[in-house]
Amino acid sequence: MKPEKMRFRTVFRVSSVKNRPPLSLSRAQTLSVSFSCMQSTNTRPSFGIAFDIDGVILRGRVPIGGSPLALRRLYDESGSLKIPFLFLTNGGGIPEPKRALELSELLGVNILPSQVVQGHSPFRNLLGRYENKLILAVGKGEPALVLTEYGFKKVLTLDEYASYFEGIDPVSEYKKWTTVPVVGRNDNFKNLVPTCDVFTERVKAAFVVSDPVDWGRDIQVLCDVLRSGGLPGTTNGHQPPLYFAADDLEYQAAFPVERLGMGAFRIALENVFNRVHHTPLQYIAFGKPKPIVFKNAESLLRQLHSSRHLNHVHHEDFASHSFRALYMVGDNPSVDIKGARQAGHPWISVLTRTGVFHGKENHEEFPADLVVDTVEEAVDYILTKECT
Ligand SMILES: [Mg+2]
Repeated sequence: MKPEKMRFRTVFRVSSVKNRPPLSLSRAQTLSVSFSCMQSTNTRPSFGIAFDIDGVILRGRVPIGGSPLALRRLYDESGSLKIPFLFLTNGGGIPEPKRALELSELLGVNILPSQVVQGHSPFRNLLGRYENKLILAVGKGEPALVLTEYGFKKVLTLDEYASYFEGIDPVSEYKKWTTVPVVGRNDNFKNLVPTCDVFTERVKAAFVVSDPVDWGRDIQVLCDVLRSGGLPGTTNGHQPPLYFAADDLEYQAAFPVERLGMGAFRIALENVFNRVHHTPLQYIAFGKPKPIVFKNAESLLRQLHSSRHLNHVHHEDFASHSFRALYMVGDNPSVDIKGARQAGHPWISVLTRTGVFHGKENHEEFPADLVVDTVEEAVDYILTKECT
């Protein structure tokens, strides 16, 4: 493999991070790096990488920070995965296989569904509890399809659900984008959802799968569902469980300044609910920076490490293999960096300046182990550190 030039404008160590070997990069290493160690089929990388997507790999649908080139370096010449990596995003709204396909097209590398961990991916672990129960899927994209693909059998989107209840959204007539209901008023919805009568069957749980689109309508209908015990229009009942895929206050999208995320919606819903209901809103939020997300990512990286997609064939120590280092490359100090820091060894946090964070130095509250300008620099650093 040809030596590659490194471009580190700012790389520094964080002295406050204890009990970790310091990260450093010599000048010589920055100039010329040979990745010969990864050419050997006998060498099994004992490190892995988790990349955030928004603000690191993509902004909107546009690749940023040299991400296509950076990712390509994690594959061998035949296109096989050489370094175990995955995407660890709090975003979502489409099933993982579809997201993998979309990322493959945008980034020019072959992304497997098992390399895509979205905020809602842990929802599949709740299948045993709600498989045949009526549940609501909230958010942009295809939230019901996401849950259906996880195995849930009785899923309605909030759009569908709201459309059954005439007048539930008193300002809907002013919303030109929702003037065509999913089902007509008084239609026989049973033709569409034969196993479900929304007027008698209580909603057993609501899942906020992705960023809600119509906050006003969604807050209204969720308040109706949650305060009534799962049946809008009835009197107070026990609040059904409410799950959020993530709790990010803000995230970096195509607009130059951060956008309000699912956490902002949660705050809005919680504040309203707590004013209209006698007991505070109960909810569970998944996603980074929760330690369980990083534990799960480590397990998935271990599977990738042992999979046939890597250039080695030893599977015997799949369960027991422990990584020397796992890198979390993210743009959001309070989500990506905080999460990696909380997760502890073997996680190492790498903060890019292509998204939420733009500081010259490190972030004050959640300092990363390493700060770089772009994901390309992050990958340069990691490959240099691990393979020379
Ligand atoms: Mg991000």
